[in-house]
Amino acid sequence: MQTPNSDAGESEGLLEEIRGLKAENDDQRLKIAALERRIAIQPQTGLPTRYRLEIELDELIERLTAEGNTRGFTLLILQLGDDYSNLRKTLKASVSEWILYQTGMRIAGMLRPEDLLFHTHENEFVVALLDLKGAELGSFLRPFLTRLSEAHIFAGLNIALKVTAGAAYWPEHGASRHQILQSADIAADASRERHRRFSLFKPSLLARAVEKVELQNAITKAFENIDEQFFLLFQPKVFVSALEGNRLRISAVEAEVLIRWKHPERGILSPDAFIPLAEETGLIMPLGKWLIYQSTRKLVSTRAAARVCSGMSINLSARQFHSDDATRILSTALSRSGARPGDLTIELTETGFFEDPVSAARTISRFKDLGVRISMDDFGTGYSSLSHLHRFPLHEIKIDKQFVEHLDTSNDDRVIVRSLVSIATGMNLALVAEGVERPEAVKMLWNMGCKGFQGYLFSRPLDERGFIDFCNKLAEAGMVWNLAA
Ligand code: C2E
Ligand code: CA
Ligand code: CA
Repeated sequence: MQTPNSDAGESEGLLEEIRGLKAENDDQRLKIAALERRIAIQPQTGLPTRYRLEIELDELIERLTAEGNTRGFTLLILQLGDDYSNLRKTLKASVSEWILYQTGMRIAGMLRPEDLLFHTHENEFVVALLDLKGAELGSFLRPFLTRLSEAHIFAGLNIALKVTAGAAYWPEHGASRHQILQSADIAADASRERHRRFSLFKPSLLARAVEKVELQNAITKAFENIDEQFFLLFQPKVFVSALEGNRLRISAVEAEVLIRWKHPERGILSPDAFIPLAEETGLIMPLGKWLIYQSTRKLVSTRAAARVCSGMSINLSARQFHSDDATRILSTALSRSGARPGDLTIELTETGFFEDPVSAARTISRFKDLGVRISMDDFGTGYSSLSHLHRFPLHEIKIDKQFVEHLDTSNDDRVIVRSLVSIATGMNLALVAEGVERPEAVKMLWNMGCKGFQGYLFSRPLDERGFIDFCNKLAEAGMVWNLAA
């Protein structure tokens, strides 16, 4: 179950107040009843709250146990996804409240009289389905979840929200209220994380949840020793000015900084294994600060050791990027290290841009005032809204590797890349193709008009020394790269 929101915080306070009261006379009894009504009903939907869920689940479990465990139930957790949170930020409160109300009504309309329904958190509903498991549960859920994802039509708007679900069986997946709630919650998390519509609890999900908690604890501990536990790799990003036969003339080399975690037991972990965790725990903020300070220092030392290196780029996650601190940290790091702002590029993913375009535009314009460059990473994978693109003062677009991988066999990918190239050239932006592994891909991309390349063909991510050697070897070769070699 999710962490309590402010409403829940208020409920906690009321709960304390109720516990502190003694029902010694009618006045006090009336007061207790009034307070209980306030924490028992969600105002947006009129449905019973988490407070009621706990009471009624206990009663249900007690009743079924007294009947001799001949019957059971499925506890189903339904969650509205990030698109609901975004909607809430961008539209009037009345619209999101109306959608919650509608969702509550849709769920209620599909339940049987003996089922229980609760509105436990702003974006979360919990249902207890009596004697409904296995294939029968499947037949119930298919139309049920489809109906919940259908668009809501409101004041000319057409709003469809993703609903994900997780379920656990009582008593198989947990006999007590606490255990069954935890199991259903783990299943709901699994759906959300893997972008699935539905997951049923199974023991391996519990094992994964435990592992996640362990990793979370480990990353928290790793921060006590940040300089030893985390390190940076540098992957060359090359810009080409001419292709003559198999010879590429390189006009500039930059490095993308890629972080690694030296986990004490599990060895070296890639960012995909821990950045999401760092985001969830909020540790991404100190990690990002460390990364920015380190990278600006490395930018200065690398440029001194490898003259042909003309810049570095760092990845900032959406959360870091939208924080109020980002500009201040960046500006302090630049002035302390003495790095030239124009040599630093900030790579942001599309989701980072469009999740909150207003805040993104504000931060980007502050970054621009500092003089750093902005690159849109993984272009083409998110909900890239081309119509928004011109609103951001960008310098570079990176074509995601998924379009580069199959360029020679997939006509669709060629069409996409060609249009990305024409957007970038039309807007006067630099273009970098990532995940370039084969010489043929370089030739095709070059012929389409792409001049920036990054990928294993040129180099895997390297340590600082390796990157300096890469640059100096290229300089010795007269800035020529032989594709046939
Ligand atoms: P990204 O920014 O798209 O980085 C490119 C990823 O592709 C890197 O994986 C890189 O090692 C890999 N790669 C490079 N060339 C090739 C190739 O030719 N073929 C294939 N198959 N892969 C290639 P890595 O280092 O594991 O990073 C994964 C993601 O983690 C990055 O994706 C980036 O989004 C994120 N990340 C990395 N470092 C940081 C960081 O310091 N902060 C934040 N917030 N995110 C980071
Ligand atoms: Ca990147
Ligand atoms: Ca990328």
